[in-house]
Amino acid sequence: MTVKYIDLRSDTVTLPTKEMREAIYNAQVGDDVYGEDPTVNRLEEMAAEIMGKEAALFVTSGTQGNQISVMTHTQPGDEIILEEKCHIITYEVGGIGRLAGVQAKLIRGKNGIMDPSDIEAAIRGEDIHFPKTKLICLENTHNRAGGTVIPMDILKRTYEVAKKHKIPIHMDGARIFNAATYLNQPVKEIAKYADSIMFCLSKGLCAPVGSLIVGSKDFIARARKFRKMLGGGMRQAGFLAAAGIIALEKMTSRLREDHENARLLAEGLSEIPGIAIDMDTVQTNIVICDISGLKLTASEFAAKLYEKGIRVNGGNSSVVRFVTHYWIKRDDIEAAIEAVKSLCKA
Ligand SMILES: *Cc1c(COP(=O)(O)O)cnc(C)c1O
Repeated sequence: MTVKYIDLRSDTVTLPTKEMREAIYNAQVGDDVYGEDPTVNRLEEMAAEIMGKEAALFVTSGTQGNQISVMTHTQPGDEIILEEKCHIITYEVGGIGRLAGVQAKLIRGKNGIMDPSDIEAAIRGEDIHFPKTKLICLENTHNRAGGTVIPMDILKRTYEVAKKHKIPIHMDGARIFNAATYLNQPVKEIAKYADSIMFCLSKGLCAPVGSLIVGSKDFIARARKFRKMLGGGMRQAGFLAAAGIIALEKMTSRLREDHENARLLAEGLSEIPGIAIDMDTVQTNIVICDISGLKLTASEFAAKLYEKGIRVNGGNSSVVRFVTHYWIKRDDIEAAIEAVKSLCKA
């Protein structure tokens, strides 16, 4: 017997759609390490076109895409600038130290967004003691800050700072289509303020596996070699790319629905005593709740909610995260709010 849960832990739990499963079954494939998989080639061409860049590379995961990008932009011993709570720092197993051999210069953002003047102040000048600042990493939308979007004026100013100092920008755009939806802009308009971008097919876009990195032809050629080094040369990867093509064709224009559901959820939850939500950060498909007003840890809260058929992410802190996605409907949101209400009453 399968029990059906309302799974709000992450948009990574999204299963592929029927259309994706059919595309996977019917995909034409070849050896991608030889450059001979027509479906991977098509996905990479589409991705480059959508992002307004010269070339793209299909990678196994967002983490692999970020790590390859950092390796491609830097040399061991360089320094890179990142926001202190970004995914690369928090959730990528220390890869930038181990794989790229770079040092991190962390900046505290406001809701995950770094002030361009703080970035400029962190860039190293010439001194015998100093490493070279070789990269600025941005995260859009910002995961731990609750899916917040970098405002266009801040993005432009950051880009100007980067150009002035001749330092490239890598954007961790795992959810860049959520950012584009929020800003009501074609994704190209965001991508043009970064030299390389990683984005995920496997989150809100529902593909089972995979991410892409985009950038200049030269950047992608060098990145391809690092992908091989990390074991990401995937042979008949067209079966995965086939779902990715559907993700790009069909799934990017419906994200607004997830954002509306997240807002509805946040409004409902914020009325419950003991739960605090900073509504300014509820911009896309993530809702971060501070439950320190309840006498429960986040993992106890998550366990109790699980008994009521709702799955959420909670750790040792008092922060619980809810994420909306394709498989979550309005009814599920109402059910989740009711479940939290009854849990808090008990
Ligand atoms: C999910 C995510 C990634 C990549 O995650 P994978 O699980 O490795 O695909 C990278 N950056 C951000 C901001 C993310 O949310």
